[in-house]
Amino acid sequence: MSVAFGVEAKQFVVVIDPGHGGKDYGAVGAVTNEKTINLNVAKKFGEKIRKSYGEDEVKIVYTRDKDVFIALNDRAKIANDAKGDLFISIHVNSIDKRNKRRATIAGTEVYTCGLHRTESNLEVAKRENAVMYLEEDYSQKYQGFDPTSPESYIAFELNQSKHLDRSIEFATLAKDYLTTTAKRVDKGVKQAGFWVLWSTSMPSVLVELDFISNPTSEKFMASAAGVEKMAQSFYKAFDDYYVAVNGGQRRAQQADKADAGKNNPAGRTDANVKPAKASGSDACADDMAEAPAAVEYRVQVLANDRSLSLKSKLFKGEKVSEYYDKGMYKYTVGHFKTQAEAEKSMRRLRAKFPQAFVIKMENGVRVN
Ligand SMILES: [Zn+2]
Repeated sequence: MSVAFGVEAKQFVVVIDPGHGGKDYGAVGAVTNEKTINLNVAKKFGEKIRKSYGEDEVKIVYTRDKDVFIALNDRAKIANDAKGDLFISIHVNSIDKRNKRRATIAGTEVYTCGLHRTESNLEVAKRENAVMYLEEDYSQKYQGFDPTSPESYIAFELNQSKHLDRSIEFATLAKDYLTTTAKRVDKGVKQAGFWVLWSTSMPSVLVELDFISNPTSEKFMASAAGVEKMAQSFYKAFDDYYVAVNGGQRRAQQADKADAGKNNPAGRTDANVKPAKASGSDACADDMAEAPAAVEYRVQVLANDRSLSLKSKLFKGEKVSEYYDKGMYKYTVGHFKTQAEAEKSMRRLRAKFPQAFVIKMENGVRVN
């Protein structure tokens, strides 16, 4: 690889996320299962990057590199903590046993986050998100998100990722190579509400390699040759993507180039996208509609790692305020002078938000 112009090159961090693991087998086939295929392809893919790129240039972070259970939000946390530049979640598809075409449907689907346009896209997202049910207090951990409730998916529409263009770019490359190098049937680049994609703050894709319910596809995915070809497809996609985002160079001057429009042929900008407010707890102060009282009580109803529209249906008609705290956007109802008043309101709100609780704010900052 060429060396940047006297500027210390930034390491590119790729997060590889083999879906499922441990007690969670994912989709199960006749001779193998999803968690095993995902891990095999992920590790082979990582090896290929490692052989071709130095560790100082591309760092590989696995959400798991063995057969263990990792919760969805822990996967996202690993990726976000690692400050990933690209998140690739690897999965295997399956068709419901009631479907008569179960054994014949085949092909690769690559997803970016967004609102499903078809019911079948939603079904894939629901199935992958349902891993949450394996966690005891999932409702609390996932802020009331219910994997089977279509209403829960509205949030994904409101939060079009500012990384969507890049996500689609990698998704298209992955799809192209999986259909040429690995000769999978092309089922396209799609969008649906996958929790892991939504909660990772970087370009991110979720790949459904092929259908384990199709015996021919399963045999391919279970074979060493199949794993090799799929890993090679990912590697080629990564290689192309890496060159594209770096303008054929190492990463160091990417930001400058992007600003100059070199990597931005369509003239796209992020200017219409709300800037990330991750810089500190005072970052959302400008957004506050009203000056907060020095000390007040509020009822917190939701928290999310991306900023939500205050008009979101998730708030069920309640007028909310947003504050930013410990990496999360938090939503509260009411401004009360006393704790007792806030608690009265909380009792009413719990009908809509079972986890609602009272917080104390001082000058717009949570203190308790
Ligand atoms: Zn899966």
